[in-house]
Parts: sequence; C-alpha cells; structure tokens
Amino acid sequence: MEIEDGEYSSMRVFILGIDALEYSLVEEWNLKYLKQKEYGKTIVPLTKTGVGSHPATVVVWSCFITGKEPIDMGYETIKIPKRDKLDDLYWSIKTRFPKSEKILYYFHRKKRSTTPTRSNIKAPTLFDNPNINSIHMHIPVYDNDAFPEYRGVGTYRAVSDKYYRKIYEKGCLKEFDERTEEVYNLLDKDWDISMQYFFLLDGIQHVFFHNKLKIMDYYMKFNNFVANLTKKIDDDDIILIISDHGQKKGIHTDYGFYSSNIKLNLKKPKIYDFKTLVEKMVYENNYN
Ligand SMILES: [Zn+2]
Repeated sequence: MEIEDGEYSSMRVFILGIDALEYSLVEEWNLKYLKQKEYGKTIVPLTKTGVGSHPATVVVWSCFITGKEPIDMGYETIKIPKRDKLDDLYWSIKTRFPKSEKILYYFHRKKRSTTPTRSNIKAPTLFDNPNINSIHMHIPVYDNDAFPEYRGVGTYRAVSDKYYRKIYEKGCLKEFDERTEEVYNLLDKDWDISMQYFFLLDGIQHVFFHNKLKIMDYYMKFNNFVANLTKKIDDDDIILIISDHGQKKGIHTDYGFYSSNIKLNLKKPKIYDFKTLVEKMVYENNYN
C-alpha cells in the first residue's frame, strides 16, 4: 500500500461494510455514488473450504477490523476447533481400542468445531482503541447479530423454493431499511468512527443469481442510499465503503471492493491496510 498526499481533514469516518459488493458490477452499471471519489479492488485473504479457496465473510471482516492477517488476527477457518473435557477421555479410549478411532472421530468432530465469536479475535480492533470514540453495528463475529434470521438454511431453501424466496426477499428488504435507518440516526450523534454492516447483498446474489435485473435493483438501492447519505453528512465527514468479496453467478469472487469520498491514493490495498489508515485519519485530525 502507498499513501501519497491524501486529503485528510476529517472529523468522522462512516464505514459501510457491504457484504459481496462486486467491483465489476459497480463498474458495469457505473454506480457513481458507490464509486465515490476513489474506488478499486482490494486484496482479501482466502480460506480453504470443502470446495477450494474463497474469501470467507467471518474471516475477512475480522481481518478488516484488526488490520491483521488471519494467522495474527486469531483464526484462519470458518469453523474453529474447540478443545473440551472429552479430549482426554477420547484419547485414552483411542489408545486402548484403536478400532474405535473412526467412530470417535465422527462424534468428536461434531462437538469440536464452533463458529468464531468475538473471543476468538485475538488482536485489538478498531473499536478497542481507547482514544477513538467508535460505534459498531452488526459486525460479523465481533457483534453476534450480523446475520438476520432469514440467512443460513434460508439461503439454500430460497434457491429452490419459490414461495420461501418471497419471504427471503422480504427479510432482505427489512434488513436494508433497518440498517440504513441506523446509519441516518448516526448523523446527529457524537463519535469518530462508525461502522455498519449489511448482509443482504450477499444473500440476494446467492438466491437470485439468474436474475441480473433483480440484482441491479439492489445495487441501485445501495447507490441511492450512499447518494442520500452524501448529501446529509458534514463537509469533512469521510465515507469508506468496504466489501469482503464480490460475487458472480452466485459464487464469491476472490477480491473485495473499497471506495472513499476523499482521495486516499491507494494502490491495490489489502484489507489489512485500512485499520491503521482510518485510525490515522481520525487521530491525527481530532487529537493533534
Ligand atoms: Zn456469500
């Protein structure tokens, strides 16, 4: 990453974390409010899954808020091994009855993996800096309410079940309205850094991957939202848009997206670069 002569003169940084916002679609539809003054792809960590290596939401966002690569952030996979009291028992059974290993492995494995939570993030985050007054809403892993009810099994079900698809989309619309409202409510509050996270665009693209017009509708919603927000913020407020990965035909792409309403002069930034950058913007301007 290189920073040259950025125009840092801000009081507050609005971070909009938009899951699965695809660089090439923003480009194709020329969504100028999502592009802002500077935009581009970002380099994000890839996580091994059953079907290859992809950016994983629960890993990438934690890397973003800590400014660390997965290994230094605290975890590298979607499921985290959990050591429990049964470990020793299983070990003794296994060593006495070697043939039991397969069946123990099956039960043990089920018990042993867990989805990451805040306690798995070992590095300090943007929100732990005592010198910065921050607000965070629905951040994956860090807050445990990032993913709305309709997600999870719902995404798979919505792909094949026409009736359920309508319920799923209603959930997406509700999430969009609630989370944009929360951002508007920040305008009159006192803080240095705020971050809001939106899941729905990932869900919409997984479920409606065959319907590009529908997907465009949702990109337009975000474009209009940023247009509106841009009109309402103070002159020196910064809006930073970040995605954890893009999506094409229902499959995650291997790069993220960023944009900023001021020139940052970033060249191929890594997702780990932004924490220090944001802290600098706020700290140097508000506390020096
Ligand atoms: Zn996804």
